[in-house]
Amino acid sequence: GMINDLSTLSRAERGKLEVEVETIDIPALMSELADNYRPEAEAKGLALTSKVGADTHELHSSKLYVREVLQNFITNAIKYTDHGSVMIDAEAVERGIRFTVSDTGIGISKADQERVFDKFFRSEDFRTRKANGTGLGLYVTMKLARMLHADIDLSSELNQGSTFTIFIPNLQDQIPDQKAKQSE
Ligand code: ATP
Ligand code: MG
Repeated sequence: GMINDLSTLSRAERGKLEVEVETIDIPALMSELADNYRPEAEAKGLALTSKVGADTHELHSSKLYVREVLQNFITNAIKYTDHGSVMIDAEAVERGIRFTVSDTGIGISKADQERVFDKFFRSEDFRTRKANGTGLGLYVTMKLARMLHADIDLSSELNQGSTFTIFIPNLQDQIPDQKAKQSE
């Protein structure tokens, strides 16, 4: 995961990231993610549940980056949760898909919520420091989100859990002239 973040980051900083738009099968992506991460969650005694809206089928965006963003949210949710569950959800909304990754974990204080997307930021909370990390995951996630024209929301309550929501738009809808490739 870290190597993935680092290579994405160095390409992003050299201006070498391209967004290759393709049709993403959302139910397939969600079951792939659930299948991949359920063993890791269950090894910690956590349930991992996945939900896909009834009218949720496709998204036109970068499969590579959408997957990387969701993986960063999911690995954090598992890492920073000791009891309970991790829930992943995809819902078709106007012009795109809204993904939600929520957990019943340690939560993030109001002050830290302002900083979690900063480069190398890790909370001082001892429960954060129990787990390994470089503090790059969410920094890279925010960079990718910008490239995808996506919006991220965070709501969290210390000791209750965290919910990361990302709305990812259909890129063809936004830039009709550039069907196959767009770069930034
Ligand atoms: P890595 O680079 O391996 O991802 P990391 O997980 O520490 O390391 P980020 O993913 O960028 O780095 O997250 C930054 C910080 O935000 C974390 O160290 C943690 O303090 C906080 N954080 C992120 N997600 C959660 C979560 N689901 N619950 C509680 N704290 C979180
Ligand atoms: Mg992380």
